[in-house]
Amino acid sequence: MNAFVDLHAHSTASDGTLAPADVVRLAKEAGVVGLALTDHDTIAGLAEASAEASHLGLTFVPGIEISARPPTENGTLHILGYCIDPQNAVLTEMTRQLIDARDNRNPRIIARLRELGIDITMEETLAQAQGGVLGRPHIAALLVKKGAVKTIKQAFDEYLGQGGKAYFDKERLAPRDAIGRIRQAGGLPVVAHPIQLRTSNDSQLQQVIKDLVDLGLAGIEVIHSDHGPVDIEKYTALADRYNLLKTGGSDFHGTNKKDINLGIANGRRIPRQWMDELLAAGRK
Ligand code: AMP
Ligand code: ZN
Ligand code: FE
Ligand code: FE
Repeated sequence: MNAFVDLHAHSTASDGTLAPADVVRLAKEAGVVGLALTDHDTIAGLAEASAEASHLGLTFVPGIEISARPPTENGTLHILGYCIDPQNAVLTEMTRQLIDARDNRNPRIIARLRELGIDITMEETLAQAQGGVLGRPHIAALLVKKGAVKTIKQAFDEYLGQGGKAYFDKERLAPRDAIGRIRQAGGLPVVAHPIQLRTSNDSQLQQVIKDLVDLGLAGIEVIHSDHGPVDIEKYTALADRYNLLKTGGSDFHGTNKKDINLGIANGRRIPRQWMDELLAAGRK
C-alpha cells in the first residue's frame, strides 16, 4: 500500500488555528504516516507535536518556515528548515530576531487600520494570536470577526497583502543568511512553494533556484496546495537537475486557510519516500 506524509503545516505556535498536538492528531486521522510542523519563525510547537507523534506512532520531522528577501519583484521567498536542532543557539537567536521584526511591523499595520476607521487594537490582535507568533492571518481573522471584511482573502486583498491599504513589509533575512543559519542549526534548507516566487519565466526560475543552490539549498517543495500539475513537473525537473531533495505539504493553517486540508495538497498526496529521503539526509 502507498503511504503518504505532510511536510508543511502550521499550528497555534504561529498562525495556524490548531494546537501542535491537535495538528498531529488530525494528521493521524487523515491517514498520513509522517508529519512535519513548520511554524513561521518559531520552534515553540515542536516539543508538544513530537511527543504526541511518538504517542500515536507517527513519524515526526521538526521544521520551521522563515521568510527571506525575495530575489523577484512582488514575489515571496519562504525557506523551510527541516531536521533542525531545537537546542541550537544560532536557531534561537534567529527566531528572536525574526519575531523582533514582526513586533516592529505589526503595530504599524494596526495603526494604519485604525486610521482607516477600523476599530481594532493591538491588545485584541495579541489575544487573537493566543501567544503564538503574530502574523497577518491573525489580523485577517480578527477583521472578519469584526465584520470589517467578509473573508480572510478579502482582508488580504484590501488591507494586508502587498498593495493593500495597510500593507507593511517586515525586515527579512537575506537568502544567504536564511539558508546559512538553517545549515548551522543542523537543518536542511528547502525552498517553499516556489510558485510564490512569481518568476516571470522558466529561465528566471532556473536562475533563482541555481543561486539558492549555490548558497546551500538542499531541497525544493514540489507538491504544495498552490501548485498545479505543470508546476509540479517543472519543480521535479529542477530537483533532478540540481540534485535537490523533493518535499511536499499542504501548508495547513486550520480555519485561517479554510480550503486547505491536512495531508492533501491541491488534490495530491505526498509520497512517504520523500520524507524518508529527507530524514536520511538530515542524519548525515
Ligand atoms: P506574515 O507572516 O505575517 O507575513 O503572514 C504570512 C502568512 O499570510 C502566510 O501564512 C501566508 O500564506 C499568508 N498570506 C499571505 N498573503 C496572503 C493572501 N493574499 N491570502 C491569504 N493568506 C495570505
Ligand atoms: Zn502562515
Ligand atoms: Fe509560506
Ligand atoms: Fe507555510
